[in-house]
Formats: sequence, structure tokens, C-alpha cells
Amino acid sequence: MSDVSCIFCKIIRGEIKSPVIYENEHIFVIQDIHPKAPIHYLIMPKKHLENMLSITPNDNNLCWEMFAVAQELGSKLPSKAFNIIANNGASAGQSVFHLHWHFLAGKNLYEHGLHL
Ligand code: 5GP
Ligand code: ZN
Repeated sequence: MSDVSCIFCKIIRGEIKSPVIYENEHIFVIQDIHPKAPIHYLIMPKKHLENMLSITPNDNNLCWEMFAVAQELGSKLPSKAFNIIANNGASAGQSVFHLHWHFLAGKNLYEHGLHL
């Protein structure tokens, strides 16, 4: 459920301080320590899962809750505009191996070098 050495698990357990944006029974949202946009949150399950490859059908409610929290945060923005980015695997840019979504808002990433 919780990983002793995982930095996000330590934040969730309160062992490392980080501004908490939102919390419920299963989901935790913190501010990214190195924000890449005016709003840069990290939405994560409290349960330690390495990344999307670790999700099983038993996590279906958890997945819905991730979307529900993103929806709630996004709907509060005046622009109602935001990006969700999820890096899965080191060569895709994942540096913390606890499943999380980057929630970015307040900056058009496509005008700042992002190309898909
Ligand atoms: P990843 O590279 O795994 O997709 O994203 C990890 C994110 O976690 C990075 O954007 C990084 O800035 C953020 N991060 C790393 N360590 C900490 C920390 O101790 N506290 C917070 N709030 N964010 C962190
Ligand atoms: Zn963890």
C-alpha cells in the first residue's frame, strides 16, 4: 500500500512537507516542487503504484477518482483549460515511481515548445 523509500509515499505519510492542494480517502494532490506552469499540481493515488502499468481492474474506482479530482480542479479554473501529462517509465521521463498525473494550467504549452 505504502512504500518506505518512495518520496511521494513519504509526503502522503507527512514525513516530508509539501503544500497539499487536495486530499480525500484515496487521492492526494500536491504542488510540484519545480512548477512548469503557473499551476502545476501532481494528482496521485495514496496507494503506491509505480505507474500505469501497475494498475489492475481492482483499481477501477481509483482510476475514476483520479479523473473526478482532475475534473473538480479543472472546473474551478476561470479558463476551464488544463493539461494532464503522465510519464510512464524512465525513458518517457518518469523520475518518481509513484503513479501521478501532472495537472498543468495557466500556460499554453503548445506556445512554449510542446509538440504532439
Ligand atoms: P515525473 O518526472 O516522475 O513525471 O514527475 C515527478 C515530479 O515530481 C517532477 O515534476 C518533480 O518536480 C516533482 N517532485 C520531485 N520531488 C518532489 C518533492 O519532494 N516534492 C514535490 N512537491 N514535488 C516533487
Ligand atoms: Zn509511493
